[in-house]
Amino acid sequence: MLGLADRYYVPVYQPRRIVLERGQGSRVWDSEGRDYVDFGAGIAVNSLGHADAELLQALQQQAQKLWHTSNVFVSEPPLHLAEELVAASGFAERVFLCNSGAEANEAAIKLVRKWAAANGRAPERRVILTFHGSFHGRTLAAVTATAQPKYQQGYEPLPGGFRYCAFNDLAAVEAAMDQGDVAAILVEPVQGEGGVVPAAPGFLAGLRGLCERHDALLVFDEIQCGMGRSGKLWAWQHDGVAPDILTVAKALGAGFPIGAMLANARVAEVLQFGAHGTTFGGNPLAAAVARVALRRLAEPALLANVQRQAQALRDGLAAINQRLGLFAEVRGRGLMLGAVLAQDWRGKAGAILDQAAARGLLLLQAGPDVLRFVPALNIADADIGEGLARLGAALADLKA
Ligand SMILES: *Cc1c(COP(=O)(O)O)cnc(C)c1O
Repeated sequence: MLGLADRYYVPVYQPRRIVLERGQGSRVWDSEGRDYVDFGAGIAVNSLGHADAELLQALQQQAQKLWHTSNVFVSEPPLHLAEELVAASGFAERVFLCNSGAEANEAAIKLVRKWAAANGRAPERRVILTFHGSFHGRTLAAVTATAQPKYQQGYEPLPGGFRYCAFNDLAAVEAAMDQGDVAAILVEPVQGEGGVVPAAPGFLAGLRGLCERHDALLVFDEIQCGMGRSGKLWAWQHDGVAPDILTVAKALGAGFPIGAMLANARVAEVLQFGAHGTTFGGNPLAAAVARVALRRLAEPALLANVQRQAQALRDGLAAINQRLGLFAEVRGRGLMLGAVLAQDWRGKAGAILDQAAARGLLLLQAGPDVLRFVPALNIADADIGEGLARLGAALADLKA
């Protein structure tokens, strides 16, 4: 089966050499019947695990009614989803529905530019500031916002109007905004792909202050850290700093592709008729599933589970580290944790993931030096315990 991937896919991926066949909760089975504990959740997407009965019912019921309308016509699920996203957001008044994270950021970038234009700013004064180590997606504009050379090399010429700054360094941001040409700051409240790095205390508040001073917009990319993953519905709630624009995707569809850009009243109005659009965005199937996901992920009991299992995971990793001494640090927020490999293990994250899979654990990395833990947010005690046991076994294998 994997020969087909080798033969027919554009070779941009190097998947682990297993073929996954079905899942239930935080367990997945491969085509040979082996079971895995899932600590990756399809890259922070399967927020309610696999084969959740309520999600399945929402999808099946909608599938029997109407699959697609385009945005030339409307149907109920995306209308309700937009209303519910606004209500849950705590700051936004309007929503643009799309199909992925990159598209949500693309919409945010275009909105920033349009807003700046509407405010009479010349094109050279519509700079968007982003951060080293960030990840915002793979479309040309989103990858230009992504301040990591490895994602950009070979794709030049890149679109102009982006400037990069050190993450968690307010003085550097202040200097980067000195010329008065910055229209927006785009930032992940917890950097994901860049190594699972939370914004330092006061950093988001500092950015907000600088945005006020320079009449710039604050855009939060919560595509990975949002939707309950941090232990609150939105990661920015830990700092009490609301954005002007918010992008979400990944966990929003709990496994069905969907993304959204939310904006406050001050900025949303500049995207008038014809200014942006998408054929599939707000697809009724995706919206029907996302409505259930949004409601479930905002429930206090679910968010309490995130906090509890995050502590269990941290305790388990500390215990493993005491035995084997592999991690320099465990960082992150809620069920978005990164175990930074110690000096001797630098660059070995890929080998650890292979061995973890051999021991029955699906795990992710964030770069070559960080193991990334982003399980389903409703993961049960038994799955955390079994996953940690398998991780311990895999690491002991490699240490031997
Ligand atoms: C995954 C991710 C994206 C891109 O989402 P896609 O759905 O892969 O386009 C953007 N920003 C962040 C923070 C992400 O984690």
